[in-house]
Amino acid sequence: MESCIFCRIRDDELPARKVYEDELVVAFEDLNPQAPTHVLVIPRRHIATLNDLQPDDEPLVGHMLAVGAKMAAQRGHAARGWRAVFNNQREAGQTVFHIHLHVLGGRPMEWPPG
Ligand code: AMP
Ligand code: ZN
Repeated sequence: MESCIFCRIRDDELPARKVYEDELVVAFEDLNPQAPTHVLVIPRRHIATLNDLQPDDEPLVGHMLAVGAKMAAQRGHAARGWRAVFNNQREAGQTVFHIHLHVLGGRPMEWPPG
């Protein structure tokens, strides 16, 4: 997926403030942060939407959440709280079609989301 901006960030073809990498995922600061902490966790492998997940991807998605929890804890949000968001497809607000976990923290959050 040469045109995918998150694949290009993964490959260092586009600049990003990466905060974590391992063999399965990459995490970087959101360009347009919606909270004091706004980190995106992506799988290295291009998966367009959550609808495209295969049974074999379940450990990968669990790992994305575990890395998100680690990022939130490192920034001091574990006790007060932080939000994990996957926007899936257009009506839910997905604009980049390479799945990503939003890790948001550092301010009170409202519910229901807009
Ligand atoms: P979503 O709307 O759920 O698909 O989220 C896409 C997110 O990617 C938004 O929060 C954008 O601010 C963020 N984003 C878009 N382009 C970049 C980029 N080049 N580097 C970092 N974050 C980006
Ligand atoms: Zn991609």
